[in-house]
Amino acid sequence: MDKLVFATNNEHKLQEVCDILKGIYQVVGLNEIGITEDIPEDADTLEGNALQKAKYIYDRTGINVFADDTGLEIDALNGEPGVYSARYAGEQKNAADNMKKVLEQLNGITNRKARFRTVISLILNHKEYSFEGTVEGEILESASGNKGFGYDPIFKPEGFNISFAEMNSEQKNQISHRGRAVQKLISFLKNHHA
Ligand code: IMP
Repeated sequence: MDKLVFATNNEHKLQEVCDILKGIYQVVGLNEIGITEDIPEDADTLEGNALQKAKYIYDRTGINVFADDTGLEIDALNGEPGVYSARYAGEQKNAADNMKKVLEQLNGITNRKARFRTVISLILNHKEYSFEGTVEGEILESASGNKGFGYDPIFKPEGFNISFAEMNSEQKNQISHRGRAVQKLISFLKNHHA
């Protein structure tokens, strides 16, 4: 079976994609191919970062690879924090600090519209492909719920009355930015396996 690298150290994300592509591709993480260094991601778009990560691995290993990058885009903040979501409140990359900063920036602002956007970049047999998943929603007035991670407690997806942090992972995966991008990647791969 052909090997496919998922350029991530997140075991949860890895397991999820491994399970879905079982029997089609052997999906392996960075640890398994001996890449332990931090992969540079200093582009100024999600697309740029995802491609930069995928290329970094492809250039070093020659193995087919995909990488993802995610951002929270808030309309009233001109799309911020966007590509800077992980380090919005500083290099400590702390979720509580990041949420606090968002809530402060939106203090007194009624337009709370926002979306999560994930871009996946795939390099398969020298060719580049890109897949996107988004979920529309709004930023709550205060944090609610303790499941999930990152900005989940302050994000309420459209059509729901609870935050992402109040959903179980199955519920979130069905409608989430990442879930949708991964579904697109998987349908593509199912039709393109060697
Ligand atoms: P990454 O692209 O998965 O590294 O995500 C970048 C940053 O966006 C993370 O540090 C999180 O703060 C945030 N983020 C990504 N995905 C989610 C999500 O599903 N829920 C909440 N925050 C997220």
